[in-house]
Amino acid sequence: METIVFDRETEGKTAIVVGGGIAGASVCYALSQRKIKTILLESESSPAKHASGNPIGVVYPFLTKHKTTESEFSYLAYRYFLELWESLELGTLVPHKDGIHFLLETISAYDRYSNALLSHQIPKAEAYLEKELHSNLDSLYFPKGKALSPVALTRELIQLAKPEIKCNSRLISWQPSKENGMDEHEGTLICQTETGTLSANYLFLTQGFQFGNDPNLQWIPMKQVRGQIVKIPGSICKNQSSILYGDYITSEIDGERVLGASFDEFHLEKEPRIKETIMMWEGLQKHLAKVINENETVDVKNFGTRVSYRTQSQDRHPVVGKLPKVSDLDTTVKYQNLFRKNGKPFQIPYFETVGILNGLGSRGLTHALLAGKILVDQIIKERKENSKLKMEIPDRIIQSLKPDRFLLRMWKRDQLT
Ligand SMILES: Cc1cc2nc3c(=O)[nH]c(=O)nc-3n(C[C@H](O)[C@H](O)[C@H](O)COP(=O)(O)OP(=O)(O)OC[C@H]3O[C@@H](n4cnc5c(N)ncnc54)[C@H](O)[C@@H]3O)c2cc1C
Repeated sequence: METIVFDRETEGKTAIVVGGGIAGASVCYALSQRKIKTILLESESSPAKHASGNPIGVVYPFLTKHKTTESEFSYLAYRYFLELWESLELGTLVPHKDGIHFLLETISAYDRYSNALLSHQIPKAEAYLEKELHSNLDSLYFPKGKALSPVALTRELIQLAKPEIKCNSRLISWQPSKENGMDEHEGTLICQTETGTLSANYLFLTQGFQFGNDPNLQWIPMKQVRGQIVKIPGSICKNQSSILYGDYITSEIDGERVLGASFDEFHLEKEPRIKETIMMWEGLQKHLAKVINENETVDVKNFGTRVSYRTQSQDRHPVVGKLPKVSDLDTTVKYQNLFRKNGKPFQIPYFETVGILNGLGSRGLTHALLAGKILVDQIIKERKENSKLKMEIPDRIIQSLKPDRFLLRMWKRDQLT
């Protein structure tokens, strides 16, 4: 368990978190560890109605053959997730099943993941190679990897964090207060919602795919991606662990399984596509015929579906950090001039007390908790001597998550004007 950080600087201060998905819930939890009064704004009638609203999701890390910033972050986030899962006894609160087999169907997949175990120094208690019984194929097995209810996880985290929850309360706009000559560093933030005006010292933006409605976020290269999951009765399949084979079939939770998800970043309609459901079923028959219970009658047209939308950044890495204030950028500073005499350095102005956590992509459940902690540590400056955090997060990982990376890229390409 982390030590709660009491800090005189944050005494009596308030934070507003916008969005009650897994990202907002994770930020609320991180804020609760610092005892900061928190208001959670959610535009729907209850939390976890969008991307975090699927009946079942899987939790396991993204790994690469050699360490990359992305894989290091993902593995750290997975370990942090497991640490909190244990210490908060989430296993007693969130419907779940342990165990994920990741099938290694090609030589290159075997090579990638067997080497990933070594390069990331992953202990056997967390992952090892073994044959998956139904397919008789090599697999990477995560004994503590989970199929779980994202809705229950999100709601339990919010419950633990105990923010003041304002549902049916969409944030319409926000701006720093400049009253009494104060700038936003010391002043407050004024938030206009559908139900009234609120003020706070800190603002955390976790709106998921609806980020584009916020003019201060529109420059961040993220996109909305349509996802469709297929829901099948649990009895149709026999597998105890979840099995990933490009698509996936989860363990049974509350009488139901999820048979994979199809994604589309170009066509975003809400209506389900029966074609994709059929494709998922045929994919399962092809890869894992032995998992299917032959005593069950199957009518693919009766399978349930759910369409929701995730947010994906240009480089597929989450976006976590203090929010740059693009309107104050000095666009006369050119990268090309930097190495010339009198070339001015490029400096990023920020909304000092505003943070963003978005672009969680297809690993939001695994990544959100650590991302929330990193964000809160960044916005509410940590007094290191007071905290006994178990997990040291290398600075290069924190840097790699910041939205700043996109501004720097645009600046180098002269795309800021
Ligand atoms: C089909 C599908 C399957 C997936 N499967 C997995 C999986 O198996 N494992 C995994 O790790 N990840 C999975 N993901 C990804 C994961 O679900 C997402 O990364 C994660 O749920 C994103 O959470 P979020 O909080 O950012 O967004 P959301 O859950 O969408 O939450 C955003 C919230 O903000 C609210 N909001 C928006 N604008 C405002 C406003 N102006 N004012 C107030 N509230 C606002 C919305 O109502 C919403 O509740 C999947 C995603 C999809 C789409």
